[in-house]
Amino acid sequence: MVKNRRKFLKVSAFGVAAMSSFISLAADKEKKKKGKKVTKPIVISTWNHGLAANAEAWKILSKNGRAIDAVEKGVMVAEADPKVRSVGYGGYPDRDGNVTLDACIMDENSDCGSVACLQNIKHPIAVARKVMDETPHVMLVGNGAYYFAREKGFPHEDLLTAGSIRDWKNWLKEAKYKPVVNMENHDTIGMLALDAEGNMSGSCTTSGAAWKLHGRVGDSPIIGAGLFLDNEVGAVCATGLGEAVIRTAASTVAVELMRQGYSPLEACKEAIQRIISKHRNHPDRDHLQVGLLALNKLGEYGGFSIRPGFNFAVCDAIQNNRLEDASYEIK
Ligand code: ASP
Repeated sequence: MVKNRRKFLKVSAFGVAAMSSFISLAADKEKKKKGKKVTKPIVISTWNHGLAANAEAWKILSKNGRAIDAVEKGVMVAEADPKVRSVGYGGYPDRDGNVTLDACIMDENSDCGSVACLQNIKHPIAVARKVMDETPHVMLVGNGAYYFAREKGFPHEDLLTAGSIRDWKNWLKEAKYKPVVNMENHDTIGMLALDAEGNMSGSCTTSGAAWKLHGRVGDSPIIGAGLFLDNEVGAVCATGLGEAVIRTAASTVAVELMRQGYSPLEACKEAIQRIISKHRNHPDRDHLQVGLLALNKLGEYGGFSIRPGFNFAVCDAIQNNRLEDASYEIK
């Protein structure tokens, strides 16, 4: 079954490759008509920790490597860093003290892989890549994802650091174990790349909302919510309150807006306004935060959030690796 699927992908890859270079060419022409040059390769990712992740991704992109490899290896830097408290090793646990991780990855052929509520594996993004490449499925969760990862050779690791245990115990004193919306600790890494061939890929990985109910899964491993892309159009990823992003399929909405001609910034803004309007009567409305990041086929990008504070890292050959503040709706 897996073999047949791979064979099919291999055969159809010719068609897809031919089609995507055609599309890339058309996009290049369109942009040249307007007197602009297509910016590629380029990689963008959410928050400050995006800088180190971009630097890793750039090693691949700058040597004409594939976007899919760049977005996988790039976010692994944040997953391995215990100082990044919202992703991978050292991430904040759920309210029972378990670190549970969510991740997904998507390539230029719209192939994708995802894991959710994965414990004791440091690199959920690499497991998601294996789900994509080596199974006929898109998503594995919980113990199933864990056993799959172990079968593929990923080591069992304790991801709860001393710092996370301390913070969790402090939280327990104040919060009395109540499930509450926690807006201070939403810092998923989402990464989008356009490679030298003009192909796009994206990745998203997180420990999710701090102090969540055990078993809670956010938007980050959900294709269409935390991440979506269409290689003919562009790619979008999300950070912030995952429940709000899932309710509105925000990444899909923003990709579809780009298809209609919106710039990445306009698409993010419109999708954020949609989230705000859909939560007008929601109990979370007064502290709701979501940030969206988008990249289109021409290498144009933009980020927009509900409230101030969202930033993202951009790396290309022209201006190197830098941080930019996103625009926002509620001043
Ligand atoms: N979106 C993630 C989630 O809700 C959290 C985050 O962005 O930090 O799980």
